[in-house]
Amino acid sequence: MNFLIYILIVLALFFFMEFMAWFTHKYVMHGFLWVLHKDHHIRDGRKVEWNDVFAVIFAVPSILLIYFGVVNPNYYLLSAGIGILLYGMAYFMFHDVYVHQRIPILRNFSNRYLRATVKAHLEHHNPHAHYNYGFLIAPLKYYLEEFSRKKAAQK
Ligand SMILES: [Zn+2]
Ligand SMILES: [Zn+2]
Repeated sequence: MNFLIYILIVLALFFFMEFMAWFTHKYVMHGFLWVLHKDHHIRDGRKVEWNDVFAVIFAVPSILLIYFGVVNPNYYLLSAGIGILLYGMAYFMFHDVYVHQRIPILRNFSNRYLRATVKAHLEHHNPHAHYNYGFLIAPLKYYLEEFSRKKAAQK
């Protein structure tokens, strides 16, 4: 069965999207489209942000891939579309719901991965910080820090 190939495509697209999100965040959102990203950094309690335009843009390839994957049908395209969709959902749940609490749920849920990754993103929100452009994957030092902190606390 080609089933394993499809799973691999889903995973590959998922991680590719983290790269795309990092790249876009660093070079586009903090670059020539800062005008759309700005209101995410200067948060004033607005329910909808201009920054949400990026979510809509990133949804387009996913919708097209799933659409053509279903109508052809072509499971390679469908798998790629599902990979992007899953990334979009994970990104939204992590960044918008969990970190920024745009929907007040999951507040009490925490683990080492989340603590380290949230810390990295909150540091990105420091107006003087020009680093940590990734979302679901933070620089290694945050995980090492979190891991050693926890180990020290257990002693
Ligand atoms: Zn930013
Ligand atoms: Zn943010």
